[in-house]
Amino acid sequence: MKLTKVIARNVIFPFTAFTGINRIVSNRSENNGLVIMYHGITQKNTSWFSPRHLQKDQFEEHLRYLKRNFDCVSLDELIQTTPKHKTRKQIALTFDDGYLNNLTVALPLLEKYKIPVTFFISGVCGEENPTSFLFPDLLQALERSKLKELKWIFDELYLSEKLKSNQDDFYSIVKGFSKTQRLTFEQLLKTQLDPVEFMQSIDSEIWQILSAESLKKLAESNIVTIGSHGYSHYLFGEISEIDCVEELSLSKQVLEKCIGKQIHYVAYPDGNYTDKVIDLAKNVGYTHQFAVYSNPDFPVNQKDIISRHVVSSTTTRDSCMFFIHSAFKKTGIP
Ligand SMILES: [Zn+2]
Repeated sequence: MKLTKVIARNVIFPFTAFTGINRIVSNRSENNGLVIMYHGITQKNTSWFSPRHLQKDQFEEHLRYLKRNFDCVSLDELIQTTPKHKTRKQIALTFDDGYLNNLTVALPLLEKYKIPVTFFISGVCGEENPTSFLFPDLLQALERSKLKELKWIFDELYLSEKLKSNQDDFYSIVKGFSKTQRLTFEQLLKTQLDPVEFMQSIDSEIWQILSAESLKKLAESNIVTIGSHGYSHYLFGEISEIDCVEELSLSKQVLEKCIGKQIHYVAYPDGNYTDKVIDLAKNVGYTHQFAVYSNPDFPVNQKDIISRHVVSSTTTRDSCMFFIHSAFKKTGIP
């Protein structure tokens, strides 16, 4: 690790948290609210697999800090109470994707600290017999151990040249596939290995998504709001208009049927959307749309998109909290 990073993590960020400099940083912004985003919370440290999950103990430290320093409110409250004349800044917590650990590990802690939360769930979770993992997790797992064996599939899909020029960026290339490309990839992959069996060789805490039954339980908690994260984790900016409409409406339908409540919010996988997608989502009936700022091609400050700050799971609590305070300026809402 770079020396500057070590000093920042061990000296500067603990100092800014302890002395209250953090609050001065967020108070410099006129924005009063911030939506923050996690993926999952795991019992064990799972950063060897992906940076998506935060370990339970660290998450509890986050919650204690957030509770002490902000008004932790629901997304509804954050969006609907305007103008705000609050002495403290407001934070709304959200989670993406629909991991089972949202129910088993994250929810009990959120209930313990009475912190409202919105889970943006992939619609496939609401089906009676869903696949138990999402496509990006399969890719992450393949990238870790099967790249060499899969080389012929890249040739088949004319991907080899693209991969060579992007080094090892298999994950982001395949994640951005259209529906037809993904289907072809899955068919070719199945001639080589059984994806379900392959995923079962990895700790399920990392990839297991909610089932209809566990999603119902999650939605029953009075601190929980459920939103849509699309149906099967396609990047909306990369798929056809027809496929976008299907992802938007099918996820809404399936989730609503499963939990018996209306779904008003949608959060785009990887913050990937286009102007057309925004219009389609409005037509389907979403009242609010959310994105994270992960690609400069997808500006987040458009009036129809509420941006979110991604909380890192690979750094210290004090670093995360400093970045949350700083995020009010760029990512916050009035
Ligand atoms: Zn996602």
